[in-house]
Amino acid sequence: MDVMEIFESMAYGPAPEASSLALDWMRAHQPLQLFINNQWVIPVGGQYLESINPATGKLLMRFAAAGKADVDAAVQAARAAFPLWSKTPGHVRARYLYAIARQLQKHARLLAVLETLDNGKSIRETRDIDIPLVARHFYYHAGWAQLMESELADYRPLGVVGQIIPWNFPLLMLAWKIAPAIAMGNTVVMKPARNTSLTALKFAEILQEIGLPAGVVNIVTGEASAAGDAIVQHPDINKIAFTGSTNVGRSIRQATAGSGKRLSLELGGKSPFIVFDDADLDSVVEGIVDAIWFNQGQVCCAGSRLLVQENISERLLHKLRARMEHLRIGDPLDKTVDMGAIVSPAQLREIQRLVDLGVAEGAEMWQPTWTCPTNGSFFPPTLFTNVTPAATIAQVEIFGPVLVSMTFRTPAEAVELANNTLYGLAASVWSENINLALDIAPKLKAGSVWLNCTNLFDAACGFGGYRESGYGREGGKEGLYEYLQPAWFVEHTTQVHSLSIPVQMGEQPAQEYLTNTGLLQAMPATIAQPVPVPAIDRTPKLFIGGKQVRADSGYSRTLLNPSGQRIGEVGDGSRKDIRNAVEAAHKASGWGNGTAHNRAQILFYIAENMATRDAEFAHRLVLQTGCTDEEAMREVETAISRLFSYAAWTDKFEGSVHRPPMRGVTLAMREPVGVIGVVSPDEHPLLGFISLVAPALAMGNTVVSIPAPQAPLSATDCYQIFETSDVPAGVVNIVTGERDVLAQVLAEHHDVNSVWYFGSHAGAKNIEFASTGNMKRTWVSYGRQRNWFDRQQGEGEEFLREATQVKNIWVPYGE
Ligand code: NDP
Repeated sequence: MDVMEIFESMAYGPAPEASSLALDWMRAHQPLQLFINNQWVIPVGGQYLESINPATGKLLMRFAAAGKADVDAAVQAARAAFPLWSKTPGHVRARYLYAIARQLQKHARLLAVLETLDNGKSIRETRDIDIPLVARHFYYHAGWAQLMESELADYRPLGVVGQIIPWNFPLLMLAWKIAPAIAMGNTVVMKPARNTSLTALKFAEILQEIGLPAGVVNIVTGEASAAGDAIVQHPDINKIAFTGSTNVGRSIRQATAGSGKRLSLELGGKSPFIVFDDADLDSVVEGIVDAIWFNQGQVCCAGSRLLVQENISERLLHKLRARMEHLRIGDPLDKTVDMGAIVSPAQLREIQRLVDLGVAEGAEMWQPTWTCPTNGSFFPPTLFTNVTPAATIAQVEIFGPVLVSMTFRTPAEAVELANNTLYGLAASVWSENINLALDIAPKLKAGSVWLNCTNLFDAACGFGGYRESGYGREGGKEGLYEYLQPAWFVEHTTQVHSLSIPVQMGEQPAQEYLTNTGLLQAMPATIAQPVPVPAIDRTPKLFIGGKQVRADSGYSRTLLNPSGQRIGEVGDGSRKDIRNAVEAAHKASGWGNGTAHNRAQILFYIAENMATRDAEFAHRLVLQTGCTDEEAMREVETAISRLFSYAAWTDKFEGSVHRPPMRGVTLAMREPVGVIGVVSPDEHPLLGFISLVAPALAMGNTVVSIPAPQAPLSATDCYQIFETSDVPAGVVNIVTGERDVLAQVLAEHHDVNSVWYFGSHAGAKNIEFASTGNMKRTWVSYGRQRNWFDRQQGEGEEFLREATQVKNIWVPYGE
């Protein structure tokens, strides 16, 4: 095309970014080796894989395929580096992260081109979005490394972290994982995706350049079945951080169950893009382009379900089709293309399969009239209308440039449709009415909600899912805790004690409290003349939906004290009772929508009512556990103090407002997790029970609790307390019975959002394994006992974090 013709047609000419820099780099590094202990290491098996340019189908270069022995070597290097790196002053770690960020910026052009060649995404995106965000993550976390000693003084790194990342944002996912991990003093073994390993190895070269100590970061490229599996199974790895498909996330949860490895999962999505009839439709169209055609739709949080208010649907779709006709697809190195190539022929086939299925299921498909290049893996932007909410294409993550559109009439219907998915990663809401948008945002089950914008990310704003989109956050302060553990957890390794062993207590705040208040002196007299306790032959029922109900089986269990004497009976709950309790807990979900002030009042009230019966509760503890009167009273008083603590926290454990680099704010809101199954520990049947139930309630969750099996009466004695303290029906449900059997039912239940299990190691393993049905969160003790009397171990932010999930609501402003 000559200049005259271009003037005539006004067509865009090509504007390719030069690839010579990247091609030279590849030639110089052919084939790429593993990066272990700051050395380039030939894989033990001598195997190599090929990296293919998806836009041309041509070979780029070969890279090493790690096997188990290589992963072993990488873990060994990371383990050896950990003691020194974890003790390296925060300021020194900050300098390393800062140096990485600076060096990334200096190599930005090479990295952007390499990423585009390897992945097929457009240079516009790698240059303007991926690489700048990568640098931003290292700068941001350099800051946290600097502040760790003062701001996170009670936390320690986890150890060696195994990280597995996908191909859709290769370097960005690497940054999201490595930056917080090493900032907090962990060492890393990372496996990039098989399709996109090149920029990770260029990154390794940067680490060498800045002189990061050997072994702090190790990169093992290779296949999922070899390198990936070896990381997941490795006994000397303390945590797995994974981003990828929900199915693989599920299999990793199962493979690591009971291993004690911490786990964070960032999984798939089917995010709604909701358009109300007062939205600015031209902005909406550009928003849709960004939501579903950014990175060819290969984005976990892609706005792949367009939900449009019915009265504007036709108008919007008309505008959208016109825009789609003008999207440019082609050579990803061309700076004027909107869409590049799909990452691989396999992914292209998968997209085509799901599109064919959509047509076969009766939806109407529309694609622009132009054709895609045929020399690589390209797929045109695709719009489906006439889609039913249950259609496969409306439910399954397609991970390609395919948008399905549905309509709604009312805001309530929009919310229902939006939440009609197993996922919960992100959502986008478009309306000129800010009140409406801000009202909808909290109702959406999603970790990120963008108002009149979409696909915005920043290191300061945590990112992660609800429901089957996984758990854990990346970015923000909340993301740091994924790589930290409480200091006391590292320093005190204790075993679960049996109830018959007298409880040893050190210097406790509770004791001080009792002494200061004079309660300790008052105690002997109180205990000497205990108020009358209920007759021991009274069999407490279960507590479900605010009512005391008989166990479905009609059976009860005999309770013995530590000397083997019968002390009473308790209802023997079953699967059916757990199901009823979960249903009741769901019906009470309004608890989380009420005010924090109201929840605080009720927790204070519970404490007040328990205090009026303290001697009775103490006596019950003596009866069940054989502890001394003094120990029993200390437990009751600490439980009351704990209720006060959570009443206090209720309106103080709040979110924050971030100022990401845009005109606007991001509201990081702490939301309740939902229905939490709480399985109480053997030790301290009252304090253990209250220490778990109270934070869950404080943060707005509803609870199905299984009390300690040998000593459930301290929990069942709370029935009247809950009844007389204005706790709404269904907010707390208590099912007594065989703990591990009932806990398993909770863990398998698809309508339970989290299970807290404080029991044996074997029980913990079962819970983690069973949790994968709906990918619920779990918090388990692995049979390790904590000192419930100690405020650091028995209460506070660790509990509150488990009881909440952060939703980031992005609110841009300006005309
Ligand atoms: P996967 O979830 O299969 O892979 C993600 C990463 O995990 C890759 O590094 C992969 O290695 C590795 N991996 C895969 N299986 C295992 C395993 N059993 N043990 C350890 N590591 C493993 O995603 P795919 O790349 O195969 O894509 C498949 C589908 O997943 C897509 O079509 C899309 O729907 C979804 N997906 C979702 C993403 C998200 O962010 N939500 C990201 C990527 C994909 P390797 O590359 O060697 O296979």
